[in-house]
Amino acid sequence: MLAGKLALVTGSTSGIGLGIARSLAAQGCGVVLNGFGEADAIESLRAGLAKEFGVRVVFEGGDLTRPADVETLMKRCEGHGGVDVLVNNAGIQHVSPVESFPPERWDAVIALNLTSAFHTTRLALPTMKARNWGRIVNIASAHGLVASVEKSAYVAAKHGIVGLTKVVALETARTGVTCNAICPGWVLTPLVQKQIDARMAERGLSADAARASLLGEKQPSGEFVTPEQLGALAVFLCSPAGDQVRGAAWAMDGGWTAQ
Ligand code: NAD
Repeated sequence: MLAGKLALVTGSTSGIGLGIARSLAAQGCGVVLNGFGEADAIESLRAGLAKEFGVRVVFEGGDLTRPADVETLMKRCEGHGGVDVLVNNAGIQHVSPVESFPPERWDAVIALNLTSAFHTTRLALPTMKARNWGRIVNIASAHGLVASVEKSAYVAAKHGIVGLTKVVALETARTGVTCNAICPGWVLTPLVQKQIDARMAERGLSADAARASLLGEKQPSGEFVTPEQLGALAVFLCSPAGDQVRGAAWAMDGGWTAQ
Protein backbone atom coordinates (compact mmCIF):
# COMPACT_ATOMS: atom_id res chain seq x y z
CA MET A 1 0.00 0.00 0.00
CA LEU A 2 2.90 2.38 0.70
CA ALA A 3 5.29 1.19 -2.01
CA GLY A 4 7.44 4.02 -3.28
CA LYS A 5 6.88 6.14 -0.17
CA LEU A 6 9.52 7.01 2.41
CA ALA A 7 8.82 7.19 6.14
CA LEU A 8 10.97 8.87 8.77
CA VAL A 9 10.27 7.36 12.18
CA THR A 10 12.13 9.25 14.92
CA GLY A 11 13.30 7.16 17.86
CA SER A 12 12.89 3.92 15.94
CA THR A 13 15.84 1.96 17.34
CA SER A 14 13.57 0.67 20.12
CA GLY A 15 10.03 0.24 21.40
CA ILE A 16 7.03 1.83 19.73
CA GLY A 17 9.05 3.54 16.99
CA LEU A 18 10.58 0.25 15.92
CA GLY A 19 7.12 -1.39 15.92
CA ILE A 20 5.75 1.37 13.70
CA ALA A 21 8.78 1.22 11.38
CA ARG A 22 8.22 -2.54 10.99
CA SER A 23 4.51 -2.08 10.23
CA LEU A 24 5.21 0.58 7.60
CA ALA A 25 7.98 -1.52 6.03
CA ALA A 26 5.55 -4.44 5.84
CA GLN A 27 3.38 -2.20 3.62
CA GLY A 28 6.30 -1.69 1.23
CA CYS A 29 7.30 1.69 2.64
CA GLY A 30 10.96 2.69 2.68
CA VAL A 31 12.11 3.65 6.16
CA VAL A 32 14.58 6.08 7.68
CA LEU A 33 15.45 4.81 11.14
CA ASN A 34 16.63 7.23 13.81
CA GLY A 35 17.55 6.99 17.47
CA PHE A 36 20.33 6.08 19.85
CA GLY A 37 22.09 2.74 20.20
CA GLU A 38 25.24 0.75 19.49
CA ALA A 39 26.34 1.08 15.86
CA ASP A 40 26.48 -2.71 15.35
CA ALA A 41 23.05 -3.28 16.84
CA ILE A 42 21.55 -0.51 14.71
CA GLU A 43 23.16 -1.89 11.55
CA SER A 44 21.79 -5.37 12.19
CA LEU A 45 18.35 -3.86 12.85
CA ARG A 46 18.58 -1.87 9.61
CA ALA A 47 19.78 -4.78 7.51
CA GLY A 48 17.25 -7.15 9.11
CA LEU A 49 14.30 -4.87 8.31
CA ALA A 50 15.48 -4.35 4.73
CA LYS A 51 15.84 -8.10 4.20
CA GLU A 52 12.60 -9.12 5.93
CA PHE A 53 10.40 -6.69 4.02
CA GLY A 54 12.41 -6.09 0.82
CA VAL A 55 12.36 -2.32 1.27
CA ARG A 56 15.01 0.37 1.47
CA VAL A 57 16.00 1.06 5.05
CA VAL A 58 18.58 3.66 6.03
CA PHE A 59 19.70 4.94 9.40
CA GLU A 60 20.23 8.60 10.17
CA GLY A 61 21.28 9.47 13.71
CA GLY A 62 21.26 12.75 15.60
CA ASP A 63 20.29 14.01 19.01
CA LEU A 64 16.87 15.47 18.33
CA THR A 65 16.93 17.63 21.46
CA ARG A 66 19.26 19.77 19.29
CA PRO A 67 17.47 21.74 16.55
CA ALA A 68 20.66 21.72 14.43
CA ASP A 69 20.64 17.90 14.48
CA VAL A 70 16.98 17.88 13.39
CA GLU A 71 17.86 20.18 10.47
CA THR A 72 20.69 17.86 9.44
CA LEU A 73 18.42 14.81 9.71
CA MET A 74 15.78 16.44 7.51
CA LYS A 75 18.37 17.51 4.92
CA ARG A 76 19.64 13.95 4.76
CA CYS A 77 16.07 12.71 4.32
CA GLU A 78 15.67 15.12 1.40
CA GLY A 79 18.74 13.44 -0.06
CA HIS A 80 16.95 10.09 0.26
CA GLY A 81 14.01 11.45 -1.75
CA GLY A 82 12.04 13.39 0.87
CA VAL A 83 9.72 12.32 3.65
CA ASP A 84 6.19 11.18 2.73
CA VAL A 85 5.32 9.77 6.16
CA LEU A 86 6.66 11.51 9.24
CA VAL A 87 6.24 9.70 12.54
CA ASN A 88 7.31 11.91 15.44
CA ASN A 89 7.92 9.26 18.06
CA ALA A 90 11.22 9.92 19.86
CA GLY A 91 10.50 10.64 23.49
CA ILE A 92 11.88 10.47 27.01
CA GLN A 93 10.38 10.57 30.48
CA HIS A 94 11.45 12.02 33.81
CA VAL A 95 9.49 11.36 37.00
CA SER A 96 9.71 13.86 39.87
CA PRO A 97 7.46 16.28 41.78
CA VAL A 98 7.39 19.78 40.28
CA GLU A 99 9.31 21.45 43.11
CA SER A 100 12.25 19.07 42.76
CA PHE A 101 12.02 18.58 38.97
CA PRO A 102 15.52 19.31 37.60
CA PRO A 103 15.20 22.25 35.16
CA GLU A 104 17.60 20.60 32.71
CA ARG A 105 15.37 17.48 32.61
CA TRP A 106 12.36 19.74 31.93
CA ASP A 107 14.24 21.33 29.04
CA ALA A 108 15.28 17.94 27.62
CA VAL A 109 11.77 16.44 27.79
CA ILE A 110 10.19 19.48 26.12
CA ALA A 111 12.98 19.67 23.52
CA LEU A 112 12.59 16.05 22.44
CA ASN A 113 8.92 15.26 23.04
CA LEU A 114 7.55 18.54 21.67
CA THR A 115 10.04 20.90 20.01
CA SER A 116 11.71 18.28 17.80
CA ALA A 117 8.30 17.51 16.28
CA PHE A 118 7.79 21.18 15.47
CA HIS A 119 11.11 21.22 13.62
CA THR A 120 10.61 17.95 11.71
CA THR A 121 7.09 19.05 10.77
CA ARG A 122 8.03 22.51 9.53
CA LEU A 123 10.87 21.02 7.49
CA ALA A 124 8.83 18.11 6.06
CA LEU A 125 5.74 20.09 5.06
CA PRO A 126 7.06 21.87 1.94
CA THR A 127 7.82 18.55 0.18
CA MET A 128 4.56 16.97 1.34
CA LYS A 129 2.54 19.97 0.15
CA ALA A 130 4.39 20.04 -3.19
CA ARG A 131 3.45 16.36 -3.69
CA ASN A 132 -0.04 16.96 -2.30
CA TRP A 133 0.31 13.84 -0.18
CA GLY A 134 1.74 13.31 3.25
CA ARG A 135 1.06 11.77 6.61
CA ILE A 136 2.23 13.18 9.92
CA VAL A 137 1.65 10.87 12.87
CA ASN A 138 2.60 12.23 16.27
CA ILE A 139 3.05 9.70 19.04
CA ALA A 140 1.55 11.56 21.97
CA SER A 141 0.22 9.58 24.95
CA ALA A 142 -2.75 9.14 27.25
CA HIS A 143 -0.77 11.87 29.00
CA GLY A 144 -1.63 14.12 26.05
CA LEU A 145 -5.24 13.95 27.24
CA VAL A 146 -5.07 13.53 31.03
CA ALA A 147 -2.42 14.05 33.70
CA SER A 148 -0.59 12.01 36.32
CA VAL A 149 1.46 13.20 39.27
CA GLU A 150 5.22 13.70 38.96
CA LYS A 151 5.22 13.91 35.15
CA SER A 152 4.95 17.69 34.65
CA ALA A 153 7.30 18.01 31.69
CA TYR A 154 6.01 14.88 29.95
CA VAL A 155 2.33 15.81 30.40
CA ALA A 156 3.02 19.38 29.27
CA ALA A 157 4.91 18.16 26.18
CA LYS A 158 2.25 15.58 25.30
CA HIS A 159 -0.64 18.03 25.71
CA GLY A 160 1.46 20.40 23.61
CA ILE A 161 1.94 17.93 20.79
CA VAL A 162 -1.81 17.25 20.70
CA GLY A 163 -2.26 21.00 20.24
CA LEU A 164 0.42 21.15 17.55
CA THR A 165 -1.30 18.24 15.79
CA LYS A 166 -4.58 20.15 15.60
CA VAL A 167 -2.96 23.32 14.24
CA VAL A 168 -1.04 21.42 11.55
CA ALA A 169 -4.21 19.50 10.64
CA LEU A 170 -6.09 22.77 10.13
CA GLU A 171 -3.27 24.35 8.15
CA THR A 172 -3.17 21.33 5.82
CA ALA A 173 -6.92 20.66 5.74
CA ARG A 174 -7.29 21.57 2.06
CA THR A 175 -4.36 19.43 1.00
CA GLY A 176 -3.54 15.74 0.72
CA VAL A 177 -1.48 16.01 3.89
CA THR A 178 -3.01 14.82 7.17
CA CYS A 179 -1.72 15.22 10.71
CA ASN A 180 -2.94 13.14 13.64
CA ALA A 181 -1.80 12.07 17.08
CA ILE A 182 -1.88 8.60 18.58
CA CYS A 183 -2.31 8.47 22.35
CA PRO A 184 -1.07 5.12 23.71
CA GLY A 185 -1.60 3.88 27.21
CA TRP A 186 1.08 1.71 28.83
CA VAL A 187 3.30 -0.14 26.34
CA LEU A 188 6.01 -2.43 27.71
CA THR A 189 9.12 -0.71 26.30
CA PRO A 190 12.45 0.34 27.87
CA LEU A 191 10.82 3.71 28.76
CA VAL A 192 8.21 1.95 30.90
CA GLN A 193 10.54 -0.79 32.14
CA LYS A 194 12.48 1.94 33.98
CA GLN A 195 9.28 2.89 35.83
CA ILE A 196 8.60 -0.77 36.64
CA ASP A 197 12.16 -1.17 37.96
CA ALA A 198 11.70 1.93 40.14
CA ARG A 199 8.44 0.51 41.51
CA MET A 200 10.10 -2.83 42.32
CA ALA A 201 12.88 -1.03 44.21
CA GLU A 202 10.63 1.45 46.05
CA ARG A 203 7.88 -0.96 47.03
CA GLY A 204 9.78 -4.23 47.25
CA LEU A 205 7.60 -5.82 44.55
CA SER A 206 8.34 -8.70 42.17
CA ALA A 207 8.48 -7.86 38.45
CA ASP A 208 5.02 -9.38 37.91
CA ALA A 209 3.53 -7.50 40.85
CA ALA A 210 5.12 -4.21 39.75
CA ARG A 211 3.74 -4.61 36.22
CA ALA A 212 0.29 -5.48 37.57
CA SER A 213 0.23 -2.51 39.94
CA LEU A 214 1.34 -0.12 37.18
CA LEU A 215 -1.44 -1.34 34.88
CA GLY A 216 -3.99 -1.55 37.69
CA GLU A 217 -3.66 2.14 38.55
CA LYS A 218 -4.45 3.44 35.06
CA GLN A 219 -5.31 0.86 32.41
CA PRO A 220 -8.70 -0.85 32.89
CA SER A 221 -7.90 -3.67 30.43
CA GLY A 222 -5.04 -4.76 32.68
CA GLU A 223 -3.02 -5.46 29.52
CA PHE A 224 -0.24 -3.57 27.80
CA VAL A 225 -0.81 -2.02 24.38
CA THR A 226 1.71 -3.47 21.90
CA PRO A 227 3.99 -1.74 19.38
CA GLU A 228 2.40 -3.97 16.70
CA GLN A 229 -1.09 -2.65 17.52
CA LEU A 230 0.20 0.93 17.36
CA GLY A 231 1.92 0.13 14.06
CA ALA A 232 -1.37 -1.11 12.63
CA LEU A 233 -3.08 2.13 13.66
CA ALA A 234 -0.32 4.17 12.02
CA VAL A 235 -0.75 2.11 8.83
CA PHE A 236 -4.49 2.82 8.90
CA LEU A 237 -3.83 6.56 9.22
CA CYS A 238 -1.57 6.27 6.15
CA SER A 239 -4.24 4.44 4.12
CA PRO A 240 -6.85 6.06 1.86
CA ALA A 241 -9.43 5.30 4.60
CA GLY A 242 -7.51 7.79 6.73
CA ASP A 243 -7.85 10.66 4.24
CA GLN A 244 -10.42 12.49 6.35
CA VAL A 245 -9.00 11.68 9.76
CA ARG A 246 -7.50 15.08 10.54
CA GLY A 247 -6.41 16.55 13.84
CA ALA A 248 -7.48 13.49 15.85
CA ALA A 249 -5.93 12.50 19.17
CA TRP A 250 -6.65 8.78 18.84
CA ALA A 251 -6.48 6.87 22.08
CA MET A 252 -5.25 3.27 22.13
CA ASP A 253 -5.01 2.92 25.86
CA GLY A 254 -6.95 -0.08 27.18
CA GLY A 255 -9.63 2.30 28.47
CA TRP A 256 -7.30 4.63 30.43
CA THR A 257 -8.90 7.89 29.23
CA ALA A 258 -12.47 6.54 29.25
CA GLN A 259 -12.50 6.78 33.06
P1 NAD B 1 11.86 3.83 24.07
O1 NAD B 1 12.73 4.35 25.17
O2 NAD B 1 11.74 2.36 23.85
O3 NAD B 1 12.29 4.46 22.68
C1 NAD B 1 12.63 5.80 22.55
C2 NAD B 1 13.35 6.03 21.25
O4 NAD B 1 13.76 7.40 21.18
C3 NAD B 1 14.64 5.20 21.13
O5 NAD B 1 14.84 4.83 19.79
C4 NAD B 1 15.71 6.19 21.57
O6 NAD B 1 17.00 5.89 21.08
C5 NAD B 1 15.16 7.46 20.95
N1 NAD B 1 15.70 8.67 21.55
C6 NAD B 1 15.84 8.96 22.86
N2 NAD B 1 16.40 10.17 23.01
C7 NAD B 1 16.62 10.66 21.75
C8 NAD B 1 17.18 11.84 21.23
N3 NAD B 1 17.63 12.81 22.05
N4 NAD B 1 17.27 11.99 19.89
C9 NAD B 1 16.83 11.01 19.06
N5 NAD B 1 16.28 9.87 19.50
C10 NAD B 1 16.18 9.70 20.82
O7 NAD B 1 10.44 4.49 24.35
P2 NAD B 1 8.96 4.13 23.83
O8 NAD B 1 8.20 3.70 25.04
O9 NAD B 1 8.98 3.29 22.62
O10 NAD B 1 8.45 5.59 23.49
C11 NAD B 1 8.27 6.05 22.18
C12 NAD B 1 7.26 7.20 22.20
O11 NAD B 1 6.01 6.70 22.67
C13 NAD B 1 7.64 8.34 23.15
O12 NAD B 1 7.28 9.57 22.57
C14 NAD B 1 6.78 8.08 24.37
O13 NAD B 1 6.52 9.25 25.10
C15 NAD B 1 5.53 7.52 23.71
N6 NAD B 1 4.68 6.73 24.61
C16 NAD B 1 5.16 5.62 25.23
C17 NAD B 1 4.31 4.91 26.05
C18 NAD B 1 4.74 3.66 26.75
O14 NAD B 1 3.97 3.17 27.59
N7 NAD B 1 5.90 3.10 26.46
C19 NAD B 1 2.99 5.33 26.25
C20 NAD B 1 2.56 6.47 25.60
C21 NAD B 1 3.41 7.17 24.77
